[in-house]
Amino acid sequence: MSKKFLALVAASALAVTSLLSGCGAEKTAPDADVKETQAKVIKMGTNAAFPPYEFKEGEDFKGIDVEIADAIAKELGMELEIVDMEFDSIITSVQKGEVDFGMAGMTVTDERKEEVDFTSSYATGVQVIVVTEGSDIATLDDLEGKKIGTQLGTTGDIYSKDDFGEENVVSYSKGADAIIALKGGDVDAVIIDNEPAKAFVADNEGLKILDTEYAIEDYAIAISKDNTELLDKINAALEKLTADGTIDEIIAGYIKAE
Ligand code: GLN
Repeated sequence: MSKKFLALVAASALAVTSLLSGCGAEKTAPDADVKETQAKVIKMGTNAAFPPYEFKEGEDFKGIDVEIADAIAKELGMELEIVDMEFDSIITSVQKGEVDFGMAGMTVTDERKEEVDFTSSYATGVQVIVVTEGSDIATLDDLEGKKIGTQLGTTGDIYSKDDFGEENVVSYSKGADAIIALKGGDVDAVIIDNEPAKAFVADNEGLKILDTEYAIEDYAIAISKDNTELLDKINAALEKLTADGTIDEIIAGYIKAE
């Protein structure tokens, strides 16, 4: 079909719409020219083993972060590409410019702020303690001298090494592996973010989350300190997507209100 013909069809469609609605303001004409220019790719570094923020379903990346990143890319007129890696590699990858930003339910901390810039926060996370149903661990104090499983390089990993001693913490490369270790009795508890904790407990019988909250944190997107232009653009996009309800809608699609 020729472009001219398409434009003609579009124009008559617009005319019909205008007639029906009595108003010509609707944007029904497809913008063929815009579609032809190839969108620039923006790369997101993540660790897709952190449901419901990022996970894989077959070959597809799913989750809150994935959808928010997609919405941000659209705001920027760019096409999102996801690069899956160990959580522990994301900040370095952002610093080296291998990815344009890191988004992985990543907590804003003072130490990380020395390495990368963070956008405004788009979600809250809580570090919680997962134990087996029959466990005698009921509070934070009960963790003293126990073996704690964590995901390497996460805040749960860093804080528990500080508070309970490195020798008592076993760091796994995936949260799911820490949960398997808990089920197998290799560790007595797992410290991890609340939403993945809920997902893992739902998928594995015989586990529970303690009521004690270990740490309350803000999630944000990490960007290279050399790229303040992108930081400003993403902050502006986040502001818009928050104001128009997009972010809340995405989160509500994955996390049911309690
Ligand atoms: N919020 C935690 C952190 O930033 C864990 C993130 C993750 O495992 N993806 O350290």
